[in-house]
Amino acid sequence: MTKRNAHTGEMTRAIHAGEVPDPTTGASAPAIHMSSTFVSHEVSGFSAHDLTDDSPFLYARWANPSVQLLERKLSAMQRTEETLCTASGMAAAAAIMLTFLSKGDHLVVSDVSYAGVAELARDTLPRYGIEVTPVDMSDLDAVANAMRPNTKLVHVESPVNPIMRLADIAAIAKLAHDGGALLSCDATFASPLGMDTEALGIDLVMHSTTKYVGGHGDAVGGAVCGSAELIQKMRLEASIHHGGILSPFNAWLISRGAATLPLRMKAHQAGAQAVAEWLETRDAVSHVMYPGLPSHPQHDLAKQQMKNFSGMLSFQVGDVAAGERIAKAMIEKLQVVHYAVSLGHHRSLIFWMETEGLLDTSFRLTDAARESYRAFAGDGIFRLSVGLEDAEDIIADLAQVL
Ligand SMILES: *Cc1c(COP(=O)(O)O)cnc(C)c1O
Repeated sequence: MTKRNAHTGEMTRAIHAGEVPDPTTGASAPAIHMSSTFVSHEVSGFSAHDLTDDSPFLYARWANPSVQLLERKLSAMQRTEETLCTASGMAAAAAIMLTFLSKGDHLVVSDVSYAGVAELARDTLPRYGIEVTPVDMSDLDAVANAMRPNTKLVHVESPVNPIMRLADIAAIAKLAHDGGALLSCDATFASPLGMDTEALGIDLVMHSTTKYVGGHGDAVGGAVCGSAELIQKMRLEASIHHGGILSPFNAWLISRGAATLPLRMKAHQAGAQAVAEWLETRDAVSHVMYPGLPSHPQHDLAKQQMKNFSGMLSFQVGDVAAGERIAKAMIEKLQVVHYAVSLGHHRSLIFWMETEGLLDTSFRLTDAARESYRAFAGDGIFRLSVGLEDAEDIIADLAQVL
């Protein structure tokens, strides 16, 4: 199935990869296999080390048919040999870092990233004797200078949450590989269809499948896509030993969402472009950041690196007082756009993110890094995840408060 799917188109792969009609019932849609254990037909070992790719299902923490279906679908969509699904996006980030880093190793990580990933890298990893250097990955010299002989992993995010700054991934892949390190990329904002991750040289692509892949705001999950060798290693550590597996029910929901991802990403991009262009015309809005806008400082890189500009944008409205006043008005008045965290859903979501608080808590940036952040985010931004509603309705909703 996987081989044949490698030759089909993007939309066909999203729908059919990993799936076959049920051989006993003829059911066209996949079943949900909630079983935690599986009846054995032979006497076999009970060690994770005995597992091979074609081992029969034995226990759901090792493998489960509904989770495996999603893993095969994501591999086909992301065009990697294998995928490991995890309980959440954070479990995917932890799986990468705790599998490929050991005491004495060094991690180079994007200085601005999803807050949970930033805190995992800065607070948790050093407790295990892992050295961590946060770097502004839009600055290639800074990445090169951060590399050390013991650098084992470079972890980049592009576009970065929440400020929509990009990193030149192909160039960073070269720096990582020249230094003997793996490159992992949190591509949640871009979605599995947003970048040609193989051409860019990414070894491990991670997603919070809670976001675009699931796409409907009803299931938390994560995934890491990569070579069979790397993913097998992670499966042993992260699933079997750390235990952060995806539930079969969530896998089923996320697979159903994934089937329409190509269509949804086109619509997210079209909606976000329309909303971003409208925002640029508003007096209340001082700055809009969207990779699809010519005004984005890295628009050329975006055009070169992104196949889809996605539905994420941010905008500024002046100082903190203005941001908080407008956030309050949004909570009271918005009807189409939900004032809520998270992103990538069919419903539009917006959230105010004040700069100083984030810089002091999650990112703890100093001087030059603070300046770079402020160039993208000022005193604070509204992070808007443009959903699949009609763009005119999203705009009319926002026009009440902007
Ligand atoms: C949401 C998110 C995560 C964490 O994912 P969860 O599923 O919430 O654990 C990681 N990275 C990025 C970029 C995200 O947006």
